[in-house]
Amino acid sequence: MSFEYPFHDRHGYPLPRASTDTDARAEVSPGLNALSVPPRVHDALEGAIGVLQFPVVFAGHRSRTAAGAAFRLHKRALGRTVRAMIDGDDPLEAGARRVRGHDRALTALQDNFGTVTRAGLHAFLSWLAEDEAYVDWYANTYAGNAGQTDEGAIREAIETLGRGAGRGGRVASLAADYRALLDRHGLGAFETAMDVALDPPLSIDGIGDPPVESKAAPGRHSAGADAPRVLASRDLRERAERVLDAVTDRANTAGVDVPLATLHGDVRAAIGDPEDGGLAPATVAGSWATQSAVADLPLLADPHAARPFDRAARDHQDSVGYPTGKAWLMAQAFEAGGFGAVLYRRLGGDPNWLVSPYVASDAVHDSDSYAAVWERAFVTDQLAASLLDRADDARGGDRALDCPLCALSTDTCGGDACAFADRIATVRDRAPALVDALASG
Ligand SMILES: [Zn+2]
Repeated sequence: MSFEYPFHDRHGYPLPRASTDTDARAEVSPGLNALSVPPRVHDALEGAIGVLQFPVVFAGHRSRTAAGAAFRLHKRALGRTVRAMIDGDDPLEAGARRVRGHDRALTALQDNFGTVTRAGLHAFLSWLAEDEAYVDWYANTYAGNAGQTDEGAIREAIETLGRGAGRGGRVASLAADYRALLDRHGLGAFETAMDVALDPPLSIDGIGDPPVESKAAPGRHSAGADAPRVLASRDLRERAERVLDAVTDRANTAGVDVPLATLHGDVRAAIGDPEDGGLAPATVAGSWATQSAVADLPLLADPHAARPFDRAARDHQDSVGYPTGKAWLMAQAFEAGGFGAVLYRRLGGDPNWLVSPYVASDAVHDSDSYAAVWERAFVTDQLAASLLDRADDARGGDRALDCPLCALSTDTCGGDACAFADRIATVRDRAPALVDALASG
């Protein structure tokens, strides 16, 4: 199995262009809480790859909202169903309908979550790139750390990111509105608006029963049966626009000195977020971000909980010095972004993956380590994507069913042999029946 970055994730979303003259992009998978950095990003930015820390930290933080958690809930349910189908524990037809339902819900989530997140990124990056003091500080600090990095290249990379993020269509108009909010009311109000927009009250009722009644998928933006039920608000873009209005109203009334926690509560009240009623009990009176017990989502929650305090991270950076942009970027992904894993290219060209060292050996589920749970989820996710692609007869329709971790390894993923060899063999045996079921699901 060849491996291409960013890895093929049916439900990831691309971060902004890193360069205007290449198509180099990083990709975030909210469902796997992973970041994929293609070699072209490295090539395009050369030693200044660390500037990608801005979008990486931004995207990682927003993955922790209810919208990001909903990704993980659907991904986990989809993976569990696929595993049951492979093992013969689940009737194929019923399992296939559930998988299709989760897949459609994830696609709808990706569309809305990606739109709002990219719009916020665009506003944030364009604002940052024009802040001369910040760019000076960053370029000086980073060039000092990296030693061999040209300061001019760093400035250019920041400017390019600021220009290139989130252009086009629906993202551009929303991004312009968020940018205006930043200009008028500052970073605190902007951050609050982004958090609330992506953090509707989360209900996990019905997660095991996705809307799958109709094979014909209605329009993505219709309030039809395939909207993700785990979100109280179906359309995150519409919610984002209402949040913008509410923040502007509140800020105009009360001035910019309102404590951010108060603004947060005011905005939620203004857009009608319920304090209780109709929600899963654990979500009452708060968002997912403050109600971590609402859902058992170790792949998402554990890295955020385990990342070091900012001060500790800074000290760590000082002591290590991060001699390369890639090391800097990965440190930011784990320490500030809270990602569970990064897929990247080794020096010399081989692909690789690294599970967050802050949680890799923690026991998170049935005493399995975080690294083992993440790797199993990654393998299942990739196999499920291959099976769905085959069923759709779309891109990758004849894709080999190989171990995706072996494709990332210099030899095999388990050392002497593939750690998932038995699983892969079973999937290959069952593939025709699974694909048939999914094609008619
Ligand atoms: Zn393997």
